[in-house]
Amino acid sequence: MSSRVPLSLRRQVFSRAEGLCEYCLIHESDTFLGLQIEHIVSEKHGGRTVAENLAAACVFCNRFKGSDIASLTSAGKLIRLFNPRLDLWHEHFRLDRFQILGVSKVGQATTGLLCFNIADRLLERQTLIRIHRYPSPAAAWAHELSLA
Ligand SMILES: [Zn+2]
Repeated sequence: MSSRVPLSLRRQVFSRAEGLCEYCLIHESDTFLGLQIEHIVSEKHGGRTVAENLAAACVFCNRFKGSDIASLTSAGKLIRLFNPRLDLWHEHFRLDRFQILGVSKVGQATTGLLCFNIADRLLERQTLIRIHRYPSPAAAWAHELSLA
């Protein structure tokens, strides 16, 4: 169960994210349900409801991440997840056509756990790329992405 996030704090988090999911970089105007507030370190792991521990996330990223803060590799090594407050997106991920690839251990762990490249999400991203809406100009500027 998560605590209620005050409206002023919600606005601060959404404003800082510039309309983007801070994990997959989809723009809120291209989502059906908009963005949600996500605890980077969940409350059950001691994460607080403060700006430094909150991120804007699309429903897919928020649902797949849940309360997780790390993931196991196939070799059984525990790897933390991407933290939008501490990490730079382009240091952990890159776009390869419509796939988001992890380029670090953190990126790979996050890509897998948040299911960035399952069929539905690939199809959505492929469609958005085709109509020049992904990555959005805001995402390209904020995360040093090249627009295809
Ligand atoms: Zn997302």
